[in-house]
Amino acid sequence: MKDYEEEPLIIESGEGVVLKDIHGKEYLDGYSSLWLNVHGHRRKEIDEAIQMQLQKIAHSTLLGAANVPAVELAEKLVEITPPNLTRVFYSDSGAESVEIAIKMAYQYWQNIGESGKTKFVTMSNGYHGDTVGAISVGAIDIYHRVYSSLMFQSYAVMFPSAYHHPSGDEEQVKQESLAAIRQLFEDKHHEIAGMTVESMMQGAGGMNTMPKGYLKELEKLCREFDILFIVDEVATGFGRTGKMFAVEHEGVQPDIMTIAKGITGGYLPVAATMTTEPIYRAFYADYAEMKTFFHGHSYTGNQLGCAAALANLEIFEKEKLVDQAAQKAEYVKSILAEIAELPFVGDIRQLGLMCGIELVQDKETKQPFPAEDRVAYKATLRMRELGMLTRPLGDVIVFMPPLVTSYEQLTQMGKIMKQAISEIQLVVK
Ligand SMILES: *Cc1c(COP(=O)(O)O)cnc(C)c1O
Repeated sequence: MKDYEEEPLIIESGEGVVLKDIHGKEYLDGYSSLWLNVHGHRRKEIDEAIQMQLQKIAHSTLLGAANVPAVELAEKLVEITPPNLTRVFYSDSGAESVEIAIKMAYQYWQNIGESGKTKFVTMSNGYHGDTVGAISVGAIDIYHRVYSSLMFQSYAVMFPSAYHHPSGDEEQVKQESLAAIRQLFEDKHHEIAGMTVESMMQGAGGMNTMPKGYLKELEKLCREFDILFIVDEVATGFGRTGKMFAVEHEGVQPDIMTIAKGITGGYLPVAATMTTEPIYRAFYADYAEMKTFFHGHSYTGNQLGCAAALANLEIFEKEKLVDQAAQKAEYVKSILAEIAELPFVGDIRQLGLMCGIELVQDKETKQPFPAEDRVAYKATLRMRELGMLTRPLGDVIVFMPPLVTSYEQLTQMGKIMKQAISEIQLVVK
Protein backbone atom coordinates (compact mmCIF):
# COMPACT_ATOMS: atom_id res chain seq x y z
CA MET A 1 0.00 0.00 0.00
CA LYS A 2 2.92 2.29 0.69
CA ASP A 3 4.08 1.93 -2.91
CA TYR A 4 0.59 2.34 -4.22
CA GLU A 5 -0.15 5.48 -2.23
CA GLU A 6 2.78 7.38 -3.73
CA GLU A 7 0.90 7.86 -6.97
CA PRO A 8 -2.35 5.88 -6.97
CA LEU A 9 -3.36 4.47 -10.32
CA ILE A 10 -7.13 4.39 -10.67
CA ILE A 11 -8.47 3.15 -13.98
CA GLU A 12 -11.79 4.48 -15.14
CA SER A 13 -12.25 3.04 -18.62
CA GLY A 14 -10.64 1.08 -21.40
CA GLU A 15 -10.99 0.63 -25.14
CA GLY A 16 -9.01 -1.89 -27.16
CA VAL A 17 -5.55 -2.17 -25.62
CA VAL A 18 -5.68 1.30 -24.07
CA LEU A 19 -6.64 1.99 -20.45
CA LYS A 20 -7.60 5.41 -19.18
CA ASP A 21 -7.25 6.65 -15.60
CA ILE A 22 -9.44 9.12 -13.69
CA HIS A 23 -7.23 12.03 -14.82
CA GLY A 24 -7.71 11.12 -18.49
CA LYS A 25 -4.15 9.79 -18.94
CA GLU A 26 -3.96 6.85 -21.33
CA TYR A 27 -1.81 3.74 -21.03
CA LEU A 28 -1.07 0.84 -23.36
CA ASP A 29 -1.98 -2.39 -21.57
CA GLY A 30 1.45 -4.06 -21.71
CA TYR A 31 0.51 -6.81 -19.24
CA SER A 32 -3.00 -7.64 -20.52
CA SER A 33 -4.42 -6.40 -17.19
CA LEU A 34 -2.34 -9.03 -15.39
CA TRP A 35 -2.14 -11.67 -18.16
CA LEU A 36 -5.87 -11.94 -18.77
CA ASN A 37 -6.96 -9.78 -21.63
CA VAL A 38 -7.09 -11.27 -25.12
CA HIS A 39 -9.19 -9.17 -27.52
CA GLY A 40 -8.79 -5.78 -25.89
CA HIS A 41 -11.21 -4.01 -23.57
CA ARG A 42 -14.84 -3.31 -24.47
CA ARG A 43 -14.81 -5.84 -27.23
CA LYS A 44 -18.23 -5.56 -28.87
CA GLU A 45 -18.96 -9.29 -29.26
CA ILE A 46 -18.17 -10.09 -25.63
CA ASP A 47 -20.02 -7.03 -24.28
CA GLU A 48 -23.08 -8.09 -26.29
CA ALA A 49 -22.88 -11.74 -25.22
CA ILE A 50 -22.97 -10.65 -21.58
CA GLN A 51 -25.86 -8.27 -22.22
CA MET A 52 -27.81 -11.01 -24.03
CA GLN A 53 -27.21 -13.44 -21.17
CA LEU A 54 -28.33 -10.79 -18.66
CA GLN A 55 -31.70 -10.75 -20.38
CA LYS A 56 -32.10 -14.43 -19.50
CA ILE A 57 -30.47 -14.91 -16.09
CA ALA A 58 -27.27 -13.78 -14.35
CA HIS A 59 -26.68 -16.81 -12.14
CA SER A 60 -28.14 -20.09 -10.95
CA THR A 61 -26.26 -22.81 -9.10
CA LEU A 62 -24.24 -25.64 -10.61
CA LEU A 63 -24.63 -27.75 -7.47
CA GLY A 64 -27.05 -30.51 -8.43
CA ALA A 65 -28.07 -28.60 -11.57
CA ALA A 66 -26.66 -27.32 -14.83
CA ASN A 67 -27.18 -24.23 -16.98
CA VAL A 68 -27.11 -23.61 -20.71
CA PRO A 69 -23.89 -21.57 -21.21
CA ALA A 70 -21.97 -23.78 -18.74
CA VAL A 71 -22.93 -26.89 -20.74
CA GLU A 72 -22.06 -25.25 -24.05
CA LEU A 73 -18.75 -23.99 -22.75
CA ALA A 74 -17.84 -27.42 -21.35
CA GLU A 75 -18.48 -28.98 -24.77
CA LYS A 76 -16.31 -26.32 -26.40
CA LEU A 77 -13.47 -26.79 -23.89
CA VAL A 78 -13.45 -30.54 -24.47
CA GLU A 79 -13.23 -29.86 -28.20
CA ILE A 80 -10.26 -27.47 -28.04
CA THR A 81 -8.12 -29.13 -25.33
CA PRO A 82 -6.00 -32.30 -25.83
CA PRO A 83 -8.16 -35.29 -26.87
CA ASN A 84 -7.80 -37.26 -23.61
CA LEU A 85 -9.38 -34.42 -21.61
CA THR A 86 -13.11 -35.09 -21.70
CA ARG A 87 -14.39 -33.81 -18.34
CA VAL A 88 -14.69 -30.28 -16.98
CA PHE A 89 -14.92 -29.10 -13.37
CA TYR A 90 -15.62 -25.37 -13.07
CA SER A 91 -14.41 -22.86 -10.50
CA ASP A 92 -13.74 -19.12 -10.34
CA SER A 93 -9.97 -18.54 -10.34
CA GLY A 94 -6.70 -20.14 -11.32
CA ALA A 95 -5.80 -20.89 -7.71
CA GLU A 96 -9.10 -22.72 -7.22
CA SER A 97 -8.61 -24.73 -10.40
CA VAL A 98 -5.29 -25.89 -8.91
CA GLU A 99 -6.81 -26.64 -5.48
CA ILE A 100 -9.34 -28.80 -7.29
CA ALA A 101 -6.62 -30.52 -9.32
CA ILE A 102 -4.73 -31.40 -6.13
CA LYS A 103 -7.78 -32.69 -4.26
CA MET A 104 -8.95 -34.60 -7.33
CA ALA A 105 -5.57 -36.26 -7.81
CA TYR A 106 -5.32 -37.11 -4.12
CA GLN A 107 -8.81 -38.57 -3.92
CA TYR A 108 -8.41 -40.43 -7.21
CA TRP A 109 -5.77 -42.66 -5.61
CA GLN A 110 -7.89 -43.06 -2.45
CA ASN A 111 -10.92 -44.02 -4.54
CA ILE A 112 -9.05 -46.72 -6.45
CA GLY A 113 -7.52 -48.17 -3.28
CA GLU A 114 -3.98 -46.75 -3.54
CA SER A 115 -4.15 -44.85 -0.28
CA GLY A 116 -0.38 -44.41 0.05
CA LYS A 117 -0.11 -41.98 -2.85
CA THR A 118 -0.60 -38.68 -1.05
CA LYS A 119 2.36 -36.43 -1.93
CA PHE A 120 3.01 -33.96 -4.72
CA VAL A 121 6.07 -32.97 -6.70
CA THR A 122 6.55 -29.36 -7.71
CA MET A 123 9.23 -27.38 -9.52
CA SER A 124 11.49 -24.80 -7.95
CA ASN A 125 10.05 -21.34 -8.61
CA GLY A 126 6.71 -22.88 -9.54
CA TYR A 127 3.61 -20.75 -9.09
CA HIS A 128 0.03 -22.03 -9.02
CA GLY A 129 -1.91 -19.34 -7.16
CA ASP A 130 -2.12 -17.95 -3.64
CA THR A 131 -4.44 -20.25 -1.68
CA VAL A 132 -2.93 -22.62 0.89
CA GLY A 133 -3.14 -25.72 -1.30
CA ALA A 134 -1.81 -23.88 -4.34
CA ILE A 135 1.16 -22.48 -2.41
CA SER A 136 1.88 -25.97 -1.07
CA VAL A 137 2.57 -27.08 -4.65
CA GLY A 138 4.31 -23.81 -5.42
CA ALA A 139 7.88 -22.93 -4.60
CA ILE A 140 8.56 -19.21 -4.67
CA ASP A 141 10.39 -18.52 -1.48
CA ILE A 142 9.52 -14.84 -1.02
CA TYR A 143 5.78 -15.40 -1.41
CA HIS A 144 5.55 -18.69 0.48
CA ARG A 145 8.17 -18.70 3.25
CA VAL A 146 6.05 -17.03 5.91
CA TYR A 147 3.29 -19.67 5.58
CA SER A 148 5.59 -22.68 5.71
CA SER A 149 4.07 -24.24 8.82
CA LEU A 150 0.61 -23.91 7.30
CA MET A 151 1.50 -25.69 4.06
CA PHE A 152 1.61 -29.43 3.30
CA GLN A 153 5.04 -30.59 2.26
CA SER A 154 5.75 -31.29 -1.41
CA TYR A 155 8.92 -32.50 -3.10
CA ALA A 156 10.48 -29.61 -5.00
CA VAL A 157 12.63 -30.48 -7.98
CA MET A 158 14.96 -28.25 -9.97
CA PHE A 159 13.46 -26.22 -12.81
CA PRO A 160 15.80 -26.35 -15.82
CA SER A 161 16.50 -22.66 -16.28
CA ALA A 162 19.55 -22.43 -18.55
CA TYR A 163 20.31 -18.75 -17.90
CA HIS A 164 20.43 -19.25 -14.12
CA HIS A 165 22.53 -22.43 -14.26
CA PRO A 166 26.34 -22.13 -14.00
CA SER A 167 26.75 -24.03 -17.30
CA GLY A 168 24.30 -21.78 -19.17
CA ASP A 169 23.69 -24.82 -21.37
CA GLU A 170 20.09 -25.90 -22.13
CA GLU A 171 20.81 -29.54 -22.86
CA GLN A 172 22.94 -29.99 -19.76
CA VAL A 173 20.36 -28.34 -17.48
CA LYS A 174 17.61 -30.42 -19.01
CA GLN A 175 19.45 -33.71 -18.44
CA GLU A 176 20.43 -32.74 -14.91
CA SER A 177 16.86 -31.87 -13.98
CA LEU A 178 15.39 -35.02 -15.58
CA ALA A 179 17.98 -37.23 -13.83
CA ALA A 180 17.08 -35.72 -10.44
CA ILE A 181 13.37 -36.26 -11.08
CA ARG A 182 13.92 -39.85 -12.21
CA GLN A 183 15.87 -40.50 -9.02
CA LEU A 184 13.09 -39.02 -6.87
CA PHE A 185 10.43 -41.02 -8.71
CA GLU A 186 12.41 -44.26 -8.35
CA ASP A 187 12.70 -43.73 -4.60
CA LYS A 188 9.27 -42.30 -3.81
CA HIS A 189 6.77 -43.07 -6.58
CA HIS A 190 4.69 -45.25 -4.24
CA GLU A 191 3.87 -42.17 -2.16
CA ILE A 192 3.51 -39.61 -4.98
CA ALA A 193 0.01 -38.74 -6.21
CA GLY A 194 0.91 -36.18 -8.83
CA MET A 195 3.34 -33.70 -10.23
CA THR A 196 2.30 -30.09 -10.86
CA VAL A 197 4.03 -28.06 -13.52
CA GLU A 198 3.41 -24.85 -15.43
CA SER A 199 3.12 -25.54 -19.13
CA MET A 200 6.29 -24.75 -21.14
CA MET A 201 7.05 -21.51 -19.29
CA GLN A 202 7.01 -20.49 -15.65
CA GLY A 203 5.16 -17.22 -15.18
CA ALA A 204 5.31 -15.67 -11.72
CA GLY A 205 8.61 -17.44 -10.98
CA GLY A 206 10.28 -15.05 -13.45
CA MET A 207 9.20 -15.95 -17.00
CA ASN A 208 11.44 -19.00 -17.30
CA THR A 209 11.24 -21.07 -20.49
CA MET A 210 11.77 -24.83 -20.51
CA PRO A 211 14.35 -26.47 -22.75
CA LYS A 212 12.88 -27.99 -25.90
CA GLY A 213 11.42 -31.45 -25.32
CA TYR A 214 11.49 -31.16 -21.54
CA LEU A 215 7.73 -31.11 -20.90
CA LYS A 216 7.34 -34.21 -23.08
CA GLU A 217 10.04 -35.98 -21.05
CA LEU A 218 8.24 -35.08 -17.82
CA GLU A 219 5.02 -36.54 -19.21
CA LYS A 220 6.85 -39.81 -20.02
CA LEU A 221 8.41 -39.98 -16.57
CA CYS A 222 5.05 -39.46 -14.87
CA ARG A 223 3.46 -42.22 -16.98
CA GLU A 224 6.36 -44.58 -16.31
CA PHE A 225 6.03 -44.17 -12.54
CA ASP A 226 2.22 -43.94 -12.32
CA ILE A 227 2.18 -40.33 -11.18
CA LEU A 228 -0.61 -38.01 -12.34
CA PHE A 229 0.73 -35.29 -14.64
CA ILE A 230 -0.99 -32.04 -13.64
CA VAL A 231 -0.29 -29.25 -16.09
CA ASP A 232 -1.14 -25.66 -15.20
CA GLU A 233 -2.20 -23.70 -18.30
CA VAL A 234 -3.69 -20.81 -16.32
CA ALA A 235 -1.18 -18.30 -17.71
CA THR A 236 -0.21 -20.04 -20.95
CA GLY A 237 -3.62 -21.08 -22.27
CA PHE A 238 -5.82 -19.36 -24.85
CA GLY A 239 -3.28 -18.43 -27.50
CA ARG A 240 -0.78 -16.76 -25.21
CA THR A 241 2.20 -18.83 -26.36
CA GLY A 242 1.30 -19.00 -30.05
CA LYS A 243 -0.73 -22.23 -29.65
CA MET A 244 -4.23 -22.51 -28.18
CA PHE A 245 -2.64 -24.34 -25.23
CA ALA A 246 1.10 -24.51 -24.62
CA VAL A 247 1.01 -28.34 -24.27
CA GLU A 248 0.44 -28.40 -28.04
CA HIS A 249 4.05 -27.29 -28.60
CA GLU A 250 5.08 -30.83 -27.57
CA GLY A 251 1.95 -32.91 -28.07
CA VAL A 252 1.54 -33.40 -24.32
CA GLN A 253 -1.66 -34.88 -22.87
CA PRO A 254 -1.92 -34.11 -19.15
CA ASP A 255 -4.01 -36.20 -16.76
CA ILE A 256 -5.33 -32.97 -15.28
CA MET A 257 -5.09 -29.51 -16.84
CA THR A 258 -6.01 -26.22 -15.16
CA ILE A 259 -7.24 -23.20 -17.15
CA ALA A 260 -8.39 -19.71 -16.14
CA LYS A 261 -7.02 -16.21 -16.96
CA GLY A 262 -7.71 -15.83 -20.73
CA ILE A 263 -10.76 -18.12 -20.70
CA THR A 264 -13.25 -15.22 -20.70
CA GLY A 265 -11.00 -12.93 -22.75
CA GLY A 266 -10.15 -11.18 -19.48
CA TYR A 267 -13.72 -10.20 -18.64
CA LEU A 268 -15.05 -12.30 -15.77
CA PRO A 269 -13.74 -14.85 -13.27
CA VAL A 270 -14.17 -18.36 -14.69
CA ALA A 271 -11.75 -21.26 -14.32
CA ALA A 272 -11.82 -24.98 -15.02
CA THR A 273 -10.00 -28.17 -14.12
CA MET A 274 -10.06 -30.57 -17.06
CA THR A 275 -9.51 -34.28 -16.64
CA THR A 276 -9.66 -37.69 -18.29
CA GLU A 277 -12.30 -40.40 -18.44
CA PRO A 278 -10.42 -42.81 -16.09
CA ILE A 279 -10.19 -40.14 -13.38
CA TYR A 280 -13.86 -39.21 -13.84
CA ARG A 281 -14.79 -42.89 -13.60
CA ALA A 282 -12.96 -43.29 -10.29
CA PHE A 283 -15.47 -40.92 -8.71
CA TYR A 284 -18.56 -42.28 -10.46
CA ALA A 285 -20.42 -44.53 -8.04
CA ASP A 286 -23.52 -44.95 -5.92
CA TYR A 287 -23.73 -42.43 -3.11
CA ALA A 288 -23.21 -45.06 -0.41
CA GLU A 289 -19.74 -45.85 -1.79
CA MET A 290 -18.66 -42.32 -0.76
CA LYS A 291 -16.51 -41.62 -3.79
CA THR A 292 -18.05 -38.18 -4.19
CA PHE A 293 -15.78 -35.25 -4.94
CA PHE A 294 -16.96 -32.91 -2.19
CA HIS A 295 -15.90 -29.62 -3.68
CA GLY A 296 -17.82 -26.64 -5.00
CA HIS A 297 -18.01 -22.86 -5.01
CA SER A 298 -21.14 -20.71 -4.87
CA TYR A 299 -20.62 -18.94 -8.19
CA THR A 300 -19.20 -21.88 -10.10
CA GLY A 301 -20.48 -22.11 -13.68
CA ASN A 302 -21.75 -18.54 -13.58
CA GLN A 303 -23.83 -17.86 -16.70
CA LEU A 304 -22.45 -14.38 -17.43
CA GLY A 305 -18.89 -15.68 -17.20
CA CYS A 306 -19.61 -18.73 -19.37
CA ALA A 307 -21.38 -16.54 -21.96
CA ALA A 308 -18.32 -14.27 -22.07
CA ALA A 309 -16.07 -17.32 -22.46
CA LEU A 310 -18.13 -18.66 -25.36
CA ALA A 311 -17.99 -15.28 -27.12
CA ASN A 312 -14.24 -15.18 -26.46
CA LEU A 313 -13.72 -18.58 -28.11
CA GLU A 314 -15.92 -17.63 -31.06
CA ILE A 315 -13.67 -14.65 -31.83
CA PHE A 316 -10.63 -16.94 -31.65
CA GLU A 317 -12.15 -19.08 -34.41
CA LYS A 318 -13.51 -16.26 -36.52
CA GLU A 319 -10.24 -14.35 -36.59
CA LYS A 320 -7.80 -17.28 -36.54
CA LEU A 321 -6.35 -15.43 -33.60
CA VAL A 322 -3.86 -18.10 -32.51
CA ASP A 323 -2.10 -17.91 -35.90
CA GLN A 324 -2.13 -14.14 -35.74
CA ALA A 325 -0.62 -14.18 -32.27
CA ALA A 326 2.12 -16.54 -33.47
CA GLN A 327 2.95 -14.08 -36.28
CA LYS A 328 2.96 -11.12 -33.92
CA ALA A 329 5.32 -13.05 -31.66
CA GLU A 330 7.85 -13.05 -34.52
CA TYR A 331 7.62 -9.27 -34.72
CA VAL A 332 7.94 -8.98 -30.93
CA LYS A 333 11.07 -11.13 -31.18
CA SER A 334 12.69 -8.46 -33.38
CA ILE A 335 11.70 -5.71 -30.92
CA LEU A 336 13.14 -7.69 -28.02
CA ALA A 337 16.36 -8.37 -29.95
CA GLU A 338 17.00 -4.61 -29.93
CA ILE A 339 16.25 -4.40 -26.23
CA ALA A 340 18.69 -7.28 -25.60
CA GLU A 341 21.50 -4.99 -26.78
CA LEU A 342 20.89 -2.46 -24.00
CA PRO A 343 23.13 -2.27 -20.93
CA PHE A 344 21.72 -4.14 -17.90
CA VAL A 345 19.64 -6.53 -20.03
CA GLY A 346 20.90 -9.99 -19.04
CA ASP A 347 18.42 -12.29 -20.72
CA ILE A 348 15.26 -12.19 -22.77
CA ARG A 349 12.86 -15.11 -22.63
CA GLN A 350 9.87 -15.42 -24.91
CA LEU A 351 7.25 -17.96 -25.90
CA GLY A 352 4.64 -16.43 -28.18
CA LEU A 353 3.37 -13.24 -26.58
CA MET A 354 4.63 -14.20 -23.14
CA CYS A 355 7.93 -12.43 -22.53
CA GLY A 356 10.34 -11.59 -19.74
CA ILE A 357 13.27 -9.17 -19.79
CA GLU A 358 15.74 -9.95 -17.01
CA LEU A 359 17.81 -7.03 -15.77
CA VAL A 360 21.26 -7.55 -14.24
CA GLN A 361 23.98 -5.27 -12.93
CA ASP A 362 26.65 -7.01 -14.99
CA LYS A 363 25.85 -8.67 -18.30
CA GLU A 364 29.08 -10.70 -18.32
CA THR A 365 28.93 -12.18 -14.81
CA LYS A 366 25.10 -12.08 -14.59
CA GLN A 367 25.53 -10.35 -11.22
CA PRO A 368 22.04 -9.22 -10.17
CA PHE A 369 21.19 -5.78 -8.82
CA PRO A 370 20.69 -5.59 -5.05
CA ALA A 371 17.04 -6.59 -4.57
CA GLU A 372 16.35 -3.51 -2.42
CA ASP A 373 17.23 -1.21 -5.34
CA ARG A 374 14.06 -2.43 -7.10
CA VAL A 375 15.50 -1.55 -10.48
CA ALA A 376 12.86 -3.29 -12.60
CA TYR A 377 10.09 -1.81 -10.49
CA LYS A 378 11.49 1.67 -11.07
CA ALA A 379 11.74 0.98 -14.79
CA THR A 380 8.06 0.00 -14.89
CA LEU A 381 7.12 3.22 -13.06
CA ARG A 382 8.97 5.12 -15.78
CA MET A 383 7.05 3.11 -18.42
CA ARG A 384 3.86 4.16 -16.72
CA GLU A 385 4.86 7.82 -17.07
CA LEU A 386 5.62 7.15 -20.73
CA GLY A 387 2.19 5.57 -21.27
CA MET A 388 2.46 1.83 -20.81
CA LEU A 389 1.50 -0.42 -17.90
CA THR A 390 3.23 -3.56 -16.73
CA ARG A 391 4.51 -5.10 -13.49
CA PRO A 392 7.87 -6.71 -12.83
CA LEU A 393 8.66 -10.01 -11.12
CA GLY A 394 11.77 -9.25 -9.11
CA ASP A 395 14.16 -7.90 -11.74
CA VAL A 396 12.28 -9.43 -14.64
CA ILE A 397 10.09 -7.05 -16.62
CA VAL A 398 6.97 -8.80 -17.89
CA PHE A 399 5.78 -8.06 -21.41
CA MET A 400 2.44 -9.71 -22.19
CA PRO A 401 0.37 -7.56 -24.55
CA PRO A 402 -3.21 -8.60 -25.47
CA LEU A 403 -3.20 -10.92 -28.51
CA VAL A 404 -4.97 -8.31 -30.66
CA THR A 405 -2.38 -5.57 -30.07
CA SER A 406 -1.63 -3.98 -33.46
CA TYR A 407 1.86 -3.85 -34.98
CA GLU A 408 1.87 -0.07 -34.44
CA GLN A 409 1.00 -0.51 -30.78
CA LEU A 410 3.63 -3.21 -30.35
CA THR A 411 6.19 -0.83 -31.87
CA GLN A 412 5.10 1.89 -29.47
CA MET A 413 5.32 -0.44 -26.47
CA GLY A 414 8.79 -1.50 -27.62
CA LYS A 415 9.90 2.14 -27.76
CA ILE A 416 8.61 2.82 -24.26
CA MET A 417 10.34 -0.25 -22.82
CA LYS A 418 13.56 0.66 -24.62
CA GLN A 419 13.56 4.20 -23.30
CA ALA A 420 12.74 3.20 -19.71
CA ILE A 421 15.39 0.47 -19.69
CA SER A 422 17.97 2.81 -21.26
CA GLU A 423 17.38 5.26 -18.43
CA ILE A 424 18.20 2.68 -15.75
CA GLN A 425 21.66 4.17 -15.27
CA LEU A 426 19.88 7.26 -13.95
CA VAL A 427 18.23 5.29 -11.14
CA VAL A 428 21.07 2.94 -10.10
CA LYS A 429 23.32 4.18 -7.37
C1 LIG B 1 -2.13 -16.54 -12.26
C2 LIG B 1 -1.79 -17.96 -12.12
C3 LIG B 1 -2.50 -18.79 -11.24
C4 LIG B 1 -3.54 -18.24 -10.29
O1 LIG B 1 -4.64 -17.75 -10.94
P1 LIG B 1 -5.63 -16.74 -10.14
O2 LIG B 1 -6.80 -16.60 -11.06
O3 LIG B 1 -4.86 -15.47 -9.95
O4 LIG B 1 -5.95 -17.40 -8.86
C5 LIG B 1 -2.22 -20.14 -11.23
N1 LIG B 1 -1.26 -20.66 -12.02
C6 LIG B 1 -0.56 -19.90 -12.87
C7 LIG B 1 0.45 -20.54 -13.75
C8 LIG B 1 -0.78 -18.53 -12.95
O5 LIG B 1 -0.04 -17.75 -13.75
